[in-house]
Amino acid sequence: MEFQQAERLLKLPIYVFAQLDKIKAEQQAKGADLIDLGMGNPDIPPPQEIINELVRSLSNSENHRYPSFEGAPEFKRAVSNWCKRQYNINVNPDNEVVTLVGSKEGVVHFAFAYINPGDITLVPMPAYPAHFRGTILAGGEPYVLPTTEKRGFLPDFKALDPEIAKKAKMMILSYPSNPTGAVANKQLFEEAVAFCKKYEIILVHDFAYAEIYFDGQKPLSMLSIPGAKDICIEYHTTSKTFGMPGWRCGFAVGNSELIEGLRKIKTNLDYGLFTAVQKAAIAAMTLDESAYIDRVRETYQTRRDIFVDGLNSLGWKVSKPKGSLYIWLPVPKGFDATEFTMRLIEKTGVVVSPGTAFGEMGEGYVRAALVASEERLREAIERLKKAGIRYS
Ligand SMILES: *Cc1c(COP(=O)(O)O)cnc(C)c1O
Repeated sequence: MEFQQAERLLKLPIYVFAQLDKIKAEQQAKGADLIDLGMGNPDIPPPQEIINELVRSLSNSENHRYPSFEGAPEFKRAVSNWCKRQYNINVNPDNEVVTLVGSKEGVVHFAFAYINPGDITLVPMPAYPAHFRGTILAGGEPYVLPTTEKRGFLPDFKALDPEIAKKAKMMILSYPSNPTGAVANKQLFEEAVAFCKKYEIILVHDFAYAEIYFDGQKPLSMLSIPGAKDICIEYHTTSKTFGMPGWRCGFAVGNSELIEGLRKIKTNLDYGLFTAVQKAAIAAMTLDESAYIDRVRETYQTRRDIFVDGLNSLGWKVSKPKGSLYIWLPVPKGFDATEFTMRLIEKTGVVVSPGTAFGEMGEGYVRAALVASEERLREAIERLKKAGIRYS
């Protein structure tokens, strides 16, 4: 018997990371020592205090029951306080916060709550795959807002055909950006809010790298723009901030109606976030910031400097990103993104992601994630040098 997958799955572009996993496994079977900068999988362990809190919470049998769908009141209060402290935004814990089983889950399910077949979602590309795949899964159509190096990988709303803008239902922005490392300024956010209000578009901001910024330039929450809460939902995650991606913990904040739509779809799909994880996340959000996050930022910034300086010594002219975990680098002449990725793995054991994993606009680039130690990043550069791989 043949099993026909649903159209929504057949319509998806191939998931490049699955392909990459296969090649990595082949190389490892041959005994290769891989330096894996392919996935944005943080390697800095979470603060000990939150591990202690998780362990403590595990021995309370109440915490093993189903949690509430939208999050425990104390979790939502902690989120509200965190948002005020970190981003100077006000969110009402009663109706402007919802817990997520990781922000990826929330971003994709949000599309199921608001996108009908044929609806358009505007997405600056290249983009984090869930930003366009969610819309495709829901039967809608992602519409590419092209971004290029020349404009700092930021979209130009004025360049969009007003007829498309009128039809669009949603727009998904995310700064600092995965994969390009682009950081938006206040003006771009003000333009985004004005644009979405004018055309009655739901504005989604994925703020996964809210705390991963460099050179002291703290990124803005979209909700800090006056009036943004009329149209905006913003996604946050503990995955990158607190080095706990495996815990699957995130939350969305913003417009109460949009939060309610997301909550409604989620009540039909999951049972919310494990209470013990919520307790640990509360502990994380009430830590003294300088104790942990500052060190995380310093660690990534030092890695960034080592890796970018190394690449530039091999002929690249990559500038240092102001945020995110990623270096977005053009591939040398004569290769496309996939060919260069494969060549790197085979010749050096260094794993990156082909830019095409982030949409067609990513052709000609690869993404390296700063998820290895300084020593291993130095070694990666050495291996490229030895293999004669340079940018030209
Ligand atoms: C890593 C990442 C996420 C995933 O976050 P989870 O909370 O672990 O699901 C979401 N958005 C972007 C842009 C990311 O890079």
